[in-house]
Amino acid sequence: MKEHCEVFKPFKPLSEEEQDFILNMADEIKELIAIPCSYCGYCLKECPVGIPIPDFFELYNSEKMYSLPSLAAIYGTTATANAPASACTECESCMEICTQKLDIPTLLKDVVNTFENF
Ligand code: SF4
Ligand code: SF4
Repeated sequence: MKEHCEVFKPFKPLSEEEQDFILNMADEIKELIAIPCSYCGYCLKECPVGIPIPDFFELYNSEKMYSLPSLAAIYGTTATANAPASACTECESCMEICTQKLDIPTLLKDVVNTFENF
């Protein structure tokens, strides 16, 4: 631990320019994330159909960022083991508990269009 701290010596606060650079980078990364799901998993307890909501949102975000063919295969396996996004009945039970106040049924339609209707 002591050795690790030595690496950063002498301690110097970030300049205003460096702080701006980091904040701009953080903003750019945030813009790349299509669905700001925090992966807390609270919605999972509410869904009567058993849709793995955060997993699907994570796959969707990855697809928007990297567009890899393997993501569709992972979606297929996850949907088969649980329930596909298209099984959503729009009951809205998950929305009441979502910590990010996401419109989950609408976002699941985007997931369907990306991974089921292509
Ligand atoms: S709205 Fe859809 S995802 Fe949300 S709890 Fe109901 S069936 Fe599950
Ligand atoms: S409750 Fe909302 S933020 Fe949390 S995992 Fe579900 S969709 Fe994501």
